[in-house]
Amino acid sequence: MRCPVCKNNTLGSITLLDKLPARQCSNCKGVSISSNAYLAWRRRLGREFPPKEAAIDIDPLWEVKELKFCPDCGHIMARYKILPDTELYIDRCRSCNGTWLDHHEWEVLIDRNLHDNMNEFFTRPWQDNLRALETKNHLDSIYLEKLGEEDYENVKRMREWLKDHPMRGMLLAFLQAEDPYKV
Ligand SMILES: [Zn+2]
Ligand SMILES: [Zn+2]
Repeated sequence: MRCPVCKNNTLGSITLLDKLPARQCSNCKGVSISSNAYLAWRRRLGREFPPKEAAIDIDPLWEVKELKFCPDCGHIMARYKILPDTELYIDRCRSCNGTWLDHHEWEVLIDRNLHDNMNEFFTRPWQDNLRALETKNHLDSIYLEKLGEEDYENVKRMREWLKDHPMRGMLLAFLQAEDPYKV
């Protein structure tokens, strides 16, 4: 079994966590995890780890952008972004469901307690949520840039205040009217 990045380097057996076997390239340190091994580990684990604040910053240079072929079955692997606004992509084989993690990527998952969520990364809900978060962050930065910090904070506070206000309609009309004292 050869490394999908280094091509002619063979992958060696390692144990990522208790009862989670994987194979690693001694050259690029990338890790290959088979779907069966992961799911068996996940089932044994039972519980979920609560998400944790990140201590490791993701370096965009870690990402190996070139196309990879599954070390298990030879199919082209698909790249999945798993965290919003990062350059962290995990490669996954759509044929045997095996995953390939470039050097540092497993550490990033452990750091954020996301290593037990790997079976969710490639699902529609995870990917939709990721895109929604990226859109939100993008709009947030546009509002901040256009409105400035102070006005943006004010308008957010006002929005919060209006949200469930019983007189919301009248308050909005008052704000929008050119002269609220004219009929
Ligand atoms: Zn390698
Ligand atoms: Zn495969």
